[in-house]
Amino acid sequence: MTERNSKETSLQVKDVDLYINGEFVKSESSTTFQNNSPFTNKVINQIAEGRKEDIKKAVTAAKDAFEQTWSKLKIAERMTYINKIADVIDEEIEEIAVLESIDTGLPISQTRKMVARAATNFRFYAKMVESKLHGEAYQQDDEFINYTVYKPLGVVGLITPWNAPFMLETWKVAPALATGNTVVLKPAELSPLTANKLAEVIDKAGLPKGVFNVVHGFGETAGAALVEHPDVEAISFTGETVTGSTIIKNAADTLKKTSMELGGKSPLIVFDDADLDRALDAAVWGIFSFNGERCTANSRVFLHKNIKDQFVEALKERVFNIKIGDPMDPSTQLGPLIETEHFNKVTNFIKIAKQEGCEVVQGTVPEELKAGNFVPPTLLLNATNDMQVCQEEIFGPVMAVIEFETEEEVIAAANDVKYGLAGYVWTNDIKRGHRVAQAVEAGMLWINSQNTRDLRIPFGGTKASGIGREGGHYAIFEFYTEPKVIHVALGDHHIPQFGKNK
Ligand code: NAD
Repeated sequence: MTERNSKETSLQVKDVDLYINGEFVKSESSTTFQNNSPFTNKVINQIAEGRKEDIKKAVTAAKDAFEQTWSKLKIAERMTYINKIADVIDEEIEEIAVLESIDTGLPISQTRKMVARAATNFRFYAKMVESKLHGEAYQQDDEFINYTVYKPLGVVGLITPWNAPFMLETWKVAPALATGNTVVLKPAELSPLTANKLAEVIDKAGLPKGVFNVVHGFGETAGAALVEHPDVEAISFTGETVTGSTIIKNAADTLKKTSMELGGKSPLIVFDDADLDRALDAAVWGIFSFNGERCTANSRVFLHKNIKDQFVEALKERVFNIKIGDPMDPSTQLGPLIETEHFNKVTNFIKIAKQEGCEVVQGTVPEELKAGNFVPPTLLLNATNDMQVCQEEIFGPVMAVIEFETEEEVIAAANDVKYGLAGYVWTNDIKRGHRVAQAVEAGMLWINSQNTRDLRIPFGGTKASGIGREGGHYAIFEFYTEPKVIHVALGDHHIPQFGKNK
C-alpha cells in the first residue's frame, strides 16, 4: 500500500481484491500483479490476479443469484436498488474521481464529470426499464393472440478497457442489472481501482450477494475464461478491434451473444463557411480531452483549403497553451498516458509521422513532469489520408491535419479508413451538413457539435469500430434482454389430425 503524494489528496490506496458473491477475496492462486501510476511510474498498489478458477467461482455466484434472487424481484424492487447505486455514487463522487485520476492519469476536472454521469446513467436505466421494458401484442384475426415479453439473459460477462474505466463499466453494468441480469465484470488490468470502488458502492446499496462480481486479471487468462464459460450468456466488450475479433472467435464455441465497441479514427471536417471559433474549440477538445485516449477522438481533422492556414495558426496557439500537469490539479487539461508501453507506442507514431513527411508541432512537457508518461499535445501538419498515422488508431493527444478542396473529395477521404465510429461536420450550410453526415461511414455523426451524448441514443460504430449498439433502449431491447413469444389460441381453431382414425 502506498500513499499518493499529490496536491489534492492524501487518499490511501488499498491493495485490490476480487469481489465474488458479495465478499472481497484473494484470488485462488493468491497471485497479485502490480498497478503503476501513470504520473510517476511508481507502484500504486497490488491487484489480486484472477484466473479461470476465479471466473468459475464468480460465474457460479452470479448464476445462483440470478436464479434465486435477482430475476425473482419485482421490477420496482430491482429499480430501488438501481437508484440506490446512483445515490451512493453521488455521495462518493470525489473519492471515485480521485481514484480514477490516480489510476489512469485522466485530469480530475474530467473524471469528476464522468463519475457524476455514471450516477445519472443508473437513474436513467431505472426509469427506462420501469417505463419502457414491455412487449407487444399481435392479434391474428379473432383466433389467436401473440405477445412478446422481454426476459433477461442470465449471467452476462462485461469486459472493459482502461481509457475511461468507471464510465464505460457503468454504461454496461446499469442496463445489465436493471434488466434483471447478473454480472461478472473483468476490468482492464491497467485501471483496476474504480471497478472495486463500484463493488463497494454496490455493496453499500445492499444488492443481494452474487448479483455483481468483479474478477481482475489479464485478458488472455481471466478475460478468455469469462468468454469461454458455458454459463455466461453474453459478452459485452469495449476495447481494441483485434481483441474484439479474438473474443468473437472464442465466444463462438458456446454460441454467445456479443456486443463490440471497438477502436476509431474519426474525422472532423471543417468547411470554409463554418463558425471557425467553435470548430476550433471542438477540434481541440475532441482530441486533447481524456488525454487523447478516447475512442471517439477526432484524430483526423480535414480543413478546407480556404481556411486551412488560419485554422492551423489557431491550432498551434492552442497546442502551446494547453495546461499539461498533475492529473490531480483541477487546472490540468492534459495528463500522462496510461503506461510506458502506450507512451512508447504513441511517440513511435509521431516518429513515423515525421518519416512520412508531416511537420510535427508540439507543446512542451515541463521538466518536473518527466517521470510521467506525458506526450505533449501534438499536431501532424501536411498529413495525407493514406499515411499510416491517418489509418491507424494512435489513441493519444495527436491530431493529423489534412487539407481538402471539395465535398466529394473529403467524404471519400473520411471513409477511406477501416474504422467507422464517429464523425464531426462543421458548416453553416444546413443541407451540406446533413448531406455529409449521411455520407460519412460512422455509427455517430455530430453536426456543428462536439461529442455530447443524449443517453437515449444508440452508441456504437460500424466497420471495424464495432458490432451492435448499446445505450438508450438499444441496450435493453437489443442486448441485455431477449424477446420471448407466447402464442395463445382464443378458440378451437383447426389442428391437422395426423394418424387419427376417421
Ligand atoms: P484491449 O482490447 O487491449 O483490452 C480491453 C479489455 O479486454 C481488457 O479488460 C483486457 O484485459 C481484455 N482482453 C484482452 N484480451 C482478451 C481476450 N483474449 N479475451 C478476453 N478479454 C481480453 O483495449 P484497451 O487497450 O484496454 O482499450 C483501448 C481501446 O478501446 C481502443 O482501441 C479504443 O478505441 C477502444 N475503446 C472503444 C470504445 C467504444 O465505445 N467504441 C470506448 C472506449 C475505448
